[in-house]
Amino acid sequence: MGFIDKLLAAPGWGIHPDDEHKRPAADLAVRTLPLPAKLYVPLQQHIGAPARPAVVVGQRVLRGQLIAEAQGKVSAPIHAPTSGVVAAIGEIAAPHPSGLAYPAITIESDGEDRPAEFTGCDDPFALSPTEIANRVAAAGIVGLGGATFPAAVKLALGQRTEVKTLILNGGECEPYLSCDDRLMRDCAADIVDGVRILLHATGASDAVIGIEENKPEAIAAMRAAIAGVAGLSVRSLPARYPMGSEKQLIKVLTGREVPADGLSSDCGVLVHNVGTAAAVHRAIRFGEPLVERLLTVNGAAVGQPGNIRVRIGTLVEDVLAFCALKSAPARLVMGGPMMGTQLPHARVPVIKGTSGILALAAAEVARPDEGPCIRCGSCVKACPMGLLPLEMAAHIRVGDLDGATALGLKDCISCACCAWTCPSAIRLVQYFAHAKGELQTKQRAQLRSDASRALVKARAERLEREAREKAEAAARRKAERAAAKAAAAAAAAAASEAAKEEV
Ligand code: SF4
Ligand code: SF4
Repeated sequence: MGFIDKLLAAPGWGIHPDDEHKRPAADLAVRTLPLPAKLYVPLQQHIGAPARPAVVVGQRVLRGQLIAEAQGKVSAPIHAPTSGVVAAIGEIAAPHPSGLAYPAITIESDGEDRPAEFTGCDDPFALSPTEIANRVAAAGIVGLGGATFPAAVKLALGQRTEVKTLILNGGECEPYLSCDDRLMRDCAADIVDGVRILLHATGASDAVIGIEENKPEAIAAMRAAIAGVAGLSVRSLPARYPMGSEKQLIKVLTGREVPADGLSSDCGVLVHNVGTAAAVHRAIRFGEPLVERLLTVNGAAVGQPGNIRVRIGTLVEDVLAFCALKSAPARLVMGGPMMGTQLPHARVPVIKGTSGILALAAAEVARPDEGPCIRCGSCVKACPMGLLPLEMAAHIRVGDLDGATALGLKDCISCACCAWTCPSAIRLVQYFAHAKGELQTKQRAQLRSDASRALVKARAERLEREAREKAEAAARRKAERAAAKAAAAAAAAAASEAAKEEV
């Protein structure tokens, strides 16, 4: 038994869904969605601070033109997905279960799709790592596997620590999704070029491209593309959800374990998605910012599933119409069925992190009623983070968030393996999502109360300082007056003495 087989045979290595629902979508040629009349481009499409508008209503823009600037250390700029006019800067429904409004720039397309001027580079290896990171940042590239962490910030992290190995995540372990698979089959040379640029930018000596074994065509295409390239290898991985999760992938490919509160760079590794590498290739070679992406449209309510090239800001309803939506979906999901986000409706935009749109029919989402926990331990065996889901849920049920936190609630990656295996259909992930939300609310309240305590303290200190300064100034003035009085008296005395002497 090899290392990986032994590792996966141990409890805590996730699940293997019987039907992955990846084909036929994975096997169909990529189609491109025609330009929509309007694009709704959110300012928050990444982890970190939202971008700040750099255009005004009525302004004409070109495809790829900067329309919102990054702000803060962790952020990413946003670019116009096509040419046209800025029709509005306001709020639209977010691709989130709440459907709450969030800020976006609306572009009315002029149908011409005229590009801005891009500056590429024939020899990226002549650029310094810092210059590459700057260009990646300026292109607005974020982790395209769904994490949406700004890619340049990750590169900067890598420059601060010694990165030995770059891991390219071609796992795509979520059922239904196949856009990474399709990208690896069709654009293997672009991905390899992006990986070489990333190697140069991080100073890592080697790169491993990890792909699940259920994508044999992608494995063959990537192996052919790396032939003769020093330092690159392709590893076939068992198809096991959540293999594409960063910590799991690092453990399987390098044997190294990322510390509980640590980053992958802490163990000398950086992980990028294969789609991110392809975007880096386009940004560095051609100067193209990130304004479109490949995503999977799937689910039984879709008439023509497949992988579609879509501009950022396209409404989900436009994508579904293009893929011949057959019936009203019982559930609409952005991303995969396990870790994706349930959408409130289809009038929300595609964002940089949208790996898939699933229109699921009733039969695909039917779940039996929740039963009592029979303490079978299946959830414990399935949890890839080595947690005790049943115990955490028991604490959350009685409102004991501290107890759940002590059991590792914050380490839960919301992969849903526990709920998927539970014979009693207990909505374990919902408990954890609710508890994490409560914890965040508590943390925010704590931060607010710490901030107001700090303000009160600062005010008291200021008042004390001002009173002290006032008293010191008064004392100084009194002393000065006394000194002046004494000097005047001395002068008068001296004058009187002088007068006496004259007499
Ligand atoms: S899998 Fe479900 S029934 Fe089994 S121990 Fe976990 S919570 Fe209980
Ligand atoms: S959702 Fe959380 S608790 Fe459940 S299996 Fe995944 S990591 Fe473990």
